[in-house]
Amino acid sequence: MTVVTRFAPSPTGHLHVGNLRTAIHNWLFAKAHGGQFWLRIDDTDAARSEEHFVAGIRADLGWLGLIPDGEVRQSHRFGLYEKAFEQLVEAGRIYPCYETAEELDIRRKILLSRGLPPVYERTALALTAAERAEKEAAGIAPHWRFKLDHDAPIGWADLVRGEQHFDPKLLSDPVIRRADGSWLYMLPSAVDDIAMGVTHVVRGEDHVSNTAVQVQMFNALQAPVPAFAHAALLTGSEGKLSKRLGSLGTDHFREIGIEPATLLSKLARLGTADPVEPFVDAAPLIGGFDFARFGRAPARFDEAELVQLNARIIHALPFEAVAARIPAEMDAAAWEAIRPNLSTVADVANWWSIVTGPVTAPALEAADRAYCSEAAQIAATLDWNADPWHALTGALKTATGRNGKALFLPLRLALTARAQGPDMAALLPLIGQEEALARLEAAAAA
Ligand code: GLU
Repeated sequence: MTVVTRFAPSPTGHLHVGNLRTAIHNWLFAKAHGGQFWLRIDDTDAARSEEHFVAGIRADLGWLGLIPDGEVRQSHRFGLYEKAFEQLVEAGRIYPCYETAEELDIRRKILLSRGLPPVYERTALALTAAERAEKEAAGIAPHWRFKLDHDAPIGWADLVRGEQHFDPKLLSDPVIRRADGSWLYMLPSAVDDIAMGVTHVVRGEDHVSNTAVQVQMFNALQAPVPAFAHAALLTGSEGKLSKRLGSLGTDHFREIGIEPATLLSKLARLGTADPVEPFVDAAPLIGGFDFARFGRAPARFDEAELVQLNARIIHALPFEAVAARIPAEMDAAAWEAIRPNLSTVADVANWWSIVTGPVTAPALEAADRAYCSEAAQIAATLDWNADPWHALTGALKTATGRNGKALFLPLRLALTARAQGPDMAALLPLIGQEEALARLEAAAAA
């Protein structure tokens, strides 16, 4: 059996961090099993779906490196849903209803006030053909419900949640089609999962009760029921489901300099028994991916932790991964010298300007000026291709008796105009002999 997963967003908004995590789970599981990962655009709701959101979804997946093996759009598949609909009406599993939203609301309130579950009472199912004809003659178009089989207890072995059981009598027959003929989410999704050969439906636990209904739809359509994995939801750092979390998308992460590898590393492991670690390459995340490692409790998404993880990712990013985004004159050695100081790749420009100059060192005390003058004389004699920093500081130590901070800090200030920064041994060859001499002499003269 080839594993087939699908990520099925509705293009009614930007993907938020919870959606991105679901996409990552689907991709990782497919990759871990040599399977296929599909993108399904759930755009049956023409009024709320927007084309720029579709483009945004594709761009987000591309940025994360989650390349789908194929894409389908629900709005191109209405014929398929129509066929399933006819088949299920024929089989007595879909029936027309004529209640208004207000009538349904009143019934719900009455049931609740009596302490009863607010389950739809199948009033429409009791209508005779004549009564139905009368309603339609009066111009009332029906909406349609899927009739749950009350004699078929619902259950599945969820890959995250374990054994799940639902009593269909406690569920309302879901409305699957509106009076204007448009589709609600429930049936098209099951029809597509069948048609696309989806073997594993991977989504958030907010879909568990939908799954209960859809299990009966798979059965009614005489199709095999796929496996399900419902991940626990994310909470914000304050421990609650936050509004902010529901709006955080790739735009924000890009803006604060988060790398795709950081988000992948974080979201792949968040809420699992495995530690979140910086993986520049996804291979180890794919290799170790297993729903059995997922916890049942909501997982806390902390942006401060993401920022820290991002720095660790950047410190490990190879030159090839950033070459297009850093100053063109920087080579691999320059990148490796500066990388340990960065928390975002965009910061590189600040550090690179130390190499290219000009730098204006702060004014030094007289003793340090004399020291820089001596350093300039020694620097002029060194072979710049052979570790000039250690040669320079070694010679200065012997000549002046200085060590520690007194030995290093005036040089760093003179050469970079900063008290901290990249490893001087890596920086000095990049600055070059001539420029280093000029900087030391300028500091000596200031
Ligand atoms: N379009 C649905 C959503 O975004 C898909 C749910 C599913 O994965 O079946 O919630």
